[in-house]
Amino acid sequence: MSARLNSQVVIVGAGAAGDAAAMALRQNGFDGSVLLIGADRHRPYERPLLSKQYLRDEVPPDRVFLHRTEEYEQQRIELVTGHAVVEARARARTVRLDDGRDIHFDSLILAPGGTPRWSPEVPRLSNVFSLRTLDDSTAIKRALGESQRMLLLGAGFIGAEVAASARLMGKNVLMIELGSVPLGRALGQEMGEIYARIHRSRGVDLRTGTSVTRWITSEDRVVGVELSDGTQAEIDVALVAIGVGAEVGLARDLGLELGLGGVLVDETLRAAPGIYCAGDIAAHFHPVFRRHVRVEHWQVAQKQGAACGAAVAGTPSRYEELPWFWSDQYDLNLQYVGNAHDFDQTVWRGDPESERFALFYLKEGVIEAVLSVNDGRTGRLSRELIRRRIPVNIDALTDVAGDLRELASA
Ligand SMILES: Cc1cc2nc3c(=O)[nH]c(=O)nc-3n(C[C@H](O)[C@H](O)[C@H](O)COP(=O)(O)OP(=O)(O)OC[C@H]3O[C@@H](n4cnc5c(N)ncnc54)[C@H](O)[C@@H]3O)c2cc1C
Repeated sequence: MSARLNSQVVIVGAGAAGDAAAMALRQNGFDGSVLLIGADRHRPYERPLLSKQYLRDEVPPDRVFLHRTEEYEQQRIELVTGHAVVEARARARTVRLDDGRDIHFDSLILAPGGTPRWSPEVPRLSNVFSLRTLDDSTAIKRALGESQRMLLLGAGFIGAEVAASARLMGKNVLMIELGSVPLGRALGQEMGEIYARIHRSRGVDLRTGTSVTRWITSEDRVVGVELSDGTQAEIDVALVAIGVGAEVGLARDLGLELGLGGVLVDETLRAAPGIYCAGDIAAHFHPVFRRHVRVEHWQVAQKQGAACGAAVAGTPSRYEELPWFWSDQYDLNLQYVGNAHDFDQTVWRGDPESERFALFYLKEGVIEAVLSVNDGRTGRLSRELIRRRIPVNIDALTDVAGDLRELASA
């Protein structure tokens, strides 16, 4: 462990944001000590693969890691894995590890991500899982290998992606969602209806507006469920995918301001003097939208992490990247750019039946976000339209033959 130095940066969380922050510190010429602390026993890896290619055994296990161990050594990044930070003290400027060690920081980057929610009525048994870590995905993969019938509780992104993977692996899939459509919270009712159709057409038994009323167990396993629609189903393996709670405990210790389920940070991702936040926990005041935005997505976490690293290295800047994410389900690549926490109009470009289309989310005529399915180009070309924050010509948006670049430069 490093001795106390004049310039010691501690990064809590060795995931997407923490890893990018550590690398960016060096890329931006920071010469002090960098300590990257992760509770996970593995070095940083690519989480999005865990519900997709890794789960389906389509990538070799080594491919999931972001860097080789030697790369951290070469960059003089001290990587501490398998240890959680259990306490942080603002005045003393220290963090405490789970083995009792106190570590000083001059600057702190908080990037602890989130933890899957668990409902108290769901039994914690050997074939009931949540999915966040590489070990979770490995365990689910193993259980799926010995099973035919999978239950997914929750049809958000993780549930929907695992449902698609399980179907691609030839499993029977029952997906239970309390809301009226899958992905409704993130994408709204209209898109949710389309995704309901997509999953059903690929053989998922999707029950919306439904909950589990009884878990039927045998020894240490769940063997079936009773549902609120009065039916029963036998199951071999279950995944609880009912959302994620941002890890704000350390931020609370430090007296940081909380909001939107995370930590409120300014335009430069700073939460307090010498303390930055990135990734799933950061509720960032976004200069384009002029409001706080918190999203739980991979590229945002990486870019925010890199921006925090650059800021601590001495080049702070307004973080202006538009949120962007993707989700792969079956042969459909969804991409979403922008942030439509609130919209009063949607506009289609292309035919949703064709499974290649885009949907614009608008508020008072201004585009807040664009979702595209198998049409990443529309998403890319719409970035400028989102940034401009002025009402757009709706007819031009719907005209698939028209060029969005002309609209952006009009
Ligand atoms: C299965 C799965 C699939 C996904 N697919 C996509 C996708 O297709 N597209 C997309 O855009 N996003 C996807 N995401 C979301 C994306 O992975 C997250 O938004 C992103 O990883 C968040 O980065 P982060 O650095 O904030 O947190 P994380 O990547 O979760 O990293 C946080 C790290 O901090 C560690 N930690 C937590 N508390 C402590 C502590 N007290 N002390 C030390 N370490 C701590 C954790 O162990 C963890 O390793 C997916 C997520 C999952 C789980």
